[in-house]
Amino acid sequence: MPRKSFKRVLLKLSGESLAGDQGYGIDPSTINTIAAEIKEVVGDGVELALVIGGGNIFRGLAASSKGMDRASADYMGMLATVINSLAMQDALEKIGVSTRVQSAIAMQEVAEPYIRRKAVRHLEKGRVVIFGAGTGNPYFTTDTAASLRAMEINAQVILKGTKVDGVYTADPKKDPTATRYNELSYIEVLQKGLQVMDATATSLCMDNNLPIIVFDLTTPGNIKRVISGEAIGTIVQG
Ligand code: UDP
Repeated sequence: MPRKSFKRVLLKLSGESLAGDQGYGIDPSTINTIAAEIKEVVGDGVELALVIGGGNIFRGLAASSKGMDRASADYMGMLATVINSLAMQDALEKIGVSTRVQSAIAMQEVAEPYIRRKAVRHLEKGRVVIFGAGTGNPYFTTDTAASLRAMEINAQVILKGTKVDGVYTADPKKDPTATRYNELSYIEVLQKGLQVMDATATSLCMDNNLPIIVFDLTTPGNIKRVISGEAIGTIVQG
C-alpha cells in the first residue's frame, strides 16, 4: 500500500545514534549530518519535533542492575537526554534552524518547561521542538516519551530512526534467513516480542492509533524519504 507524506512528525532518535562509530558520547560529525537532514525537511515546511534518548551517556536500568537505586539511576538517564537535546539544539542553530528545547524536568536556566500549547505554537512557527528529560518519570523510556508527546502535539506519525532498515523476523546479524517486515500490526509486535519500541510505548500507540515507522537513519536522505511517503523501513499500524 502506498504511504502518504507527513506534515507534522515526531522523530525519535536513540542516544546511540548520536555516538557514531565510537559507541558512546556525542560524535560531532554524526550529529551535524542528522541536523543537516532535519534542516532540509523543515525547509520544506514539515513541522518536526524530536525526542532523543540517553543511552549513549547513561541508562537507568543498566546502572540499577549493578546496584544503584532505580529511580535515581533513571533520573540520571533523563538528564542524559537533556545533554543530547542541547547538543542537537546547538547543531541545528549553527546551521540556521530555529529550535526550542522543552524539558519534562524543570531547569529553567537550560530549557523551557514542557508546555504542550507552547510546543504546538513553536511547531506552527517552523521551529524544531526538542523534548528533553523523557516523560519526567522514572521507570519509563524515551520511546514512551516519544509516543506520549507525539499524541499530545497531534503528530501524524512517530519516525524511529535506527541503525537497521526496519524490523526483522530475527536478528539479521545472527540469522541469515531473517527477513524484513514491510508492515506490522501493533498486536503482532507485542505478541512476537519484536524490538520496535518497548511494550508500554507500543500499546500507547495502539490505543491511540498512532503509526510508527522504523527506518535506517544511517542512510543519507532517509529522513526526507520517510517523511515524503517513500515506503522504506517497517510501518507499524492497525
Ligand atoms: N528515562 C526515564 N524516564 C523516561 C525516559 C527516560 O527514566 O521517561 C531514563 C531511563 O533510565 C533510560 C534513560 O533515561 O534508560 C535513557 O533513555 P532511553 O534508554 O530510552 O534512551 P535510548 O535507548 O533511546 O538511547
